[in-house]
Amino acid sequence: MLEPFDWVRLARGGAELMTTLRFIQNEALDTKDHPVAGPHSALSGPCIRCGVYSRRPRKTYCSTCSFILSKTPNYIQASKDSLLLWGQTGGGIPRPLRHPHQKIAKFIYGPAFFKDNAFLLGIKSFKLITFLREIVFAHGYDLSGHFLIFPTVGTNPKMTMNDVLITAMRQRLPIIPDQLTITFMPNMYWSVNSRKMWKGYDNSAPIQEFIALLDTAQTFKHIFGPQDQDHILNILNSSSFQEKMFHWHRFVGLQDTSVQEFLSTINMVNWLSEQRTYFFEILPYVSYNTTN
Ligand SMILES: [Zn+2]
Repeated sequence: MLEPFDWVRLARGGAELMTTLRFIQNEALDTKDHPVAGPHSALSGPCIRCGVYSRRPRKTYCSTCSFILSKTPNYIQASKDSLLLWGQTGGGIPRPLRHPHQKIAKFIYGPAFFKDNAFLLGIKSFKLITFLREIVFAHGYDLSGHFLIFPTVGTNPKMTMNDVLITAMRQRLPIIPDQLTITFMPNMYWSVNSRKMWKGYDNSAPIQEFIALLDTAQTFKHIFGPQDQDHILNILNSSSFQEKMFHWHRFVGLQDTSVQEFLSTINMVNWLSEQRTYFFEILPYVSYNTTN
């Protein structure tokens, strides 16, 4: 009857999805003994959520749907703190996900496997870099595949979690990249065409480049608090080149030598505006703690 991925697709909001993924991870969605519903009648019929299993007596949901919905409020914060990762690989499921050891299992939700080379998981966003490093540790740079990473959404009637997932899954690539490539979508107001280009900036990168980007973002966030970040963005968004350079050099001159070296290395002042916007959109998803 319903497979794990069918349960995933029933989730209307991020918290419901994270609940479902956690139960899949804990193998708590065992429905083999659940009675399948008969046809609709005046007094009974299938569960109004899954449309497959019998409703509980005098209720509108089956026992599994009731279970998921009753636990969903416990996962609202988990949904806000997490990202979703839709992965397709060329050489089977990545080793760290086949039997996740305790270190990884603590910060992922799922995975739910789709066929033999695709999966969906939730991951605490501040741990994304740790997870990607585990993948590299296990496979080097030999794994072929594509990870599409994006935030959850709430129960927005205009765009449900289900809509987002279906959009993500439609982007199954006809040819898996030889080198594991990461596409990060920092917000959900995206179109199918934006997979490759986000606001004009190419948001796909080989895994090592993406890890380096997250690492830079973590260091940046570690050095600069929210007020400094706003100040930097204001300077860099200046419409006048001379004004931008004047205020930038003034700002850099006030920093410690090590910070000056960092800013010089990343060369942020010369980034394209799309690259800058992308970087600042990523910041909320990385920790200010560089040991993560
Ligand atoms: Zn149900």
